[in-house]
Amino acid sequence: MAVKYRYGEMTWPEVKEAASRPCVAIVPIATLEDHGRHLPIDTDLLLCASVCELAAARAAGRVVLVPPINHGYSPHHMDFPGALTIGPHTLIDYGLDVCKSLAHHGFTRILIVNGHGSNTPFVDIIARLCVVETEALAAAVNYWSAPGVREVAESLRESDTMGGMNHACEFETSLYLALRPDLVDMSLAVRELSHRPTKNYWTDLVGGDGPLAMMEHWSQLSESGVMGDPTKATPEKGRALLDAAASGLVELVDEMLARESPARRDHH
Ligand SMILES: [Zn+2]
Repeated sequence: MAVKYRYGEMTWPEVKEAASRPCVAIVPIATLEDHGRHLPIDTDLLLCASVCELAAARAAGRVVLVPPINHGYSPHHMDFPGALTIGPHTLIDYGLDVCKSLAHHGFTRILIVNGHGSNTPFVDIIARLCVVETEALAAAVNYWSAPGVREVAESLRESDTMGGMNHACEFETSLYLALRPDLVDMSLAVRELSHRPTKNYWTDLVGGDGPLAMMEHWSQLSESGVMGDPTKATPEKGRALLDAAASGLVELVDEMLARESPARRDHH
């Protein structure tokens, strides 16, 4: 029988066995929020979970894939119907409790894979708190920042170099088209770059953000909910990005497994 990697499908003796060998517990986390008129509100969740599923299948035997945490931090999206937001402290407590549970069962490597930009500071805090409050080494990564993704995305990019890949954009729409084309209505896809970039404020999923870090209410930044250019999206680009993101995550898994954890030393 093929080795199980989906945490929820395991029995407790199988969880015990997985935690006893070199194994990274992958914890996907995303949110539900508006993604323009052409994409479903589960975009961040479907994309993140799918990248993690592909990566976990490739790394079966050295990972377990925890069911995703569906909800995230999206209060700035509440002017659009659809967003379900949880508070910042709830998110930190929730994510940390999941990671601490995994550490309690013996997992010593935990990788939080985030699919929603505004969760970023919180998953960083969750990973840090897990390190200081448990014996496990935890890390967090946004799936679009996994090694190799940026190079593939830039090689495929037809949208504006700064802002064309942001939200419900060329990047996310391509991935959704590769996964569930039946749920994407490209006739409603619009290019919108209404977020008013200035000298030190700009934002792009792949190109990075300017030094002036801020997040206004989404309805102040976009009329359609789109930030970027989904009209340039194709399923072929989505398949290439999916493959790159999964490969990047496997690289991170192996790097975490190879990293030693020397004993702490109290210098008092
Ligand atoms: Zn998104």
